[in-house]
Amino acid sequence: MPTYRIAIVGAGPAGYFSAQALQNSQDEERTFAIDLFERLPTPWGLVRSGVAPDHPKIKTVAKVFEKIAGDPNFRLFGNVELGRDVSIEQLKENYDAVILATGSSVGRKLGIPGEELAGSLSAADFVPWYNGHPDYVNVAVPLNGKNAVVIGAGNVAMDCGRMLALDPTELDSTDTADHAHAAFHQSAIRNVTIVGRRGPEHAAFTSPEIRELPKLEHTDVLITQSEIESAKERVAEQLEGNKELRNNLEAMLEVSQTPAKNHERKLAINFLLTPIEIIGNEKVEAIRFARNEVMNDKVSATKEIIEMPCDLVISAIGYEVLPIPGVEFANGKVVNENGFVADNLYVVGWAKRGPSGVIGTNKSDSSDVVKLLLAKLPSTPKENSDIAKIITNQQVVTQSGWQKINQVEVEQGEPVGKPRRKVTDWKDLLSLGQE
Ligand code: NAP
Repeated sequence: MPTYRIAIVGAGPAGYFSAQALQNSQDEERTFAIDLFERLPTPWGLVRSGVAPDHPKIKTVAKVFEKIAGDPNFRLFGNVELGRDVSIEQLKENYDAVILATGSSVGRKLGIPGEELAGSLSAADFVPWYNGHPDYVNVAVPLNGKNAVVIGAGNVAMDCGRMLALDPTELDSTDTADHAHAAFHQSAIRNVTIVGRRGPEHAAFTSPEIRELPKLEHTDVLITQSEIESAKERVAEQLEGNKELRNNLEAMLEVSQTPAKNHERKLAINFLLTPIEIIGNEKVEAIRFARNEVMNDKVSATKEIIEMPCDLVISAIGYEVLPIPGVEFANGKVVNENGFVADNLYVVGWAKRGPSGVIGTNKSDSSDVVKLLLAKLPSTPKENSDIAKIITNQQVVTQSGWQKINQVEVEQGEPVGKPRRKVTDWKDLLSLGQE
């Protein structure tokens, strides 16, 4: 029975779900040997370094990933970087098909004056910092001021806002990286404002994320009721046919009606404000917004300018792909047609469609691309050499190496009531991950 060799680059959800779709397509006529390449010594992508630590349920999908990795025809190549240790050409040559699942890790820029000031940073740096990504442990996150502003009305902005506004004791039993956990305990931040440039009816938050806000035990969540009511009036005709919009506005309305408990910590959500300048001498001191209005579903600026004093600005306004040598990019993603790039090269996940959708979205997306890949596979596999012999890097972290890291982290978490304590230093990860 022929065995096709498939390379997947990027061990995040889209990569694992592609492997799963291939495994599920095996039959009496063909099997698949899957090699999963990952730049970091640790797999799981955003499940490890993106999902907020206070959302442990979402991370249980890692059990599915480990089951996929348990197949005897699956190999993990951690600490192998495309372009450094192996080239895209080598992969294309040595595999029957190559799937890029490299995500989008670069934070979009606001492009406004003052964005480079100390205390202004992207969610693309803040999120991996609190999640213990080894490249982000030294990001400067000044938490010594009282006021923080988060730009964007999506779920990443919500995660950032919540992480800044919650009482740090709520993180004590989570896998927040030790350095970030300690910093949150020292944090002076008490007022966090999430700011959307359009109206509540245009917000990209999803309703479960809105509805969980009042569960914060030590934080008042403030949404202005009249703002949501006005939005509901503006879209009254769309509500019946648009369940998502209806749910979102209902959820916001409920939050706006939840009585404040006079907690010292506040998380506010404001709308219709476009950031135009971050102000400060050496560090962030305030942010200036143009007030917008909605007319006939169009958002436009009024003449009103408002200034919010603040000490920290996090922009959570989406992501772009980090370019890969030899691959064509446009509009923040890999140029592709339904996941097909060229020759035997495919792309899945955020690198394919842009930074949208929840983790589960990648399951159907990867499965669709794998169907296309299978339809284009030649009738016999290539004669190919084992890539392990081609890779120059001596410190590859295999699945069993990763399992050692995993075991150490979980064991270190147990006595302190955490699911794990993440190892965040490259050298430590690499030495733990050797077989
Ligand atoms: P997103 O959902 O696309 O939201 C981006 C937000 O940034 C939008 O509100 C957008 O406003 C705003 N924005 C863009 N450019 C801006 C600018 N120049 N100035 C001000 N605001 C600007 O992206 P995301 O929050 O990064 O999330 C990415 C994906 O991950 C989403 O699909 C999200 O649902 C998912 N995610 C899910 C979870 C979860 O399930 N708990 C957690 C995190 C992320 P406009 O609409 O006006 O452009």
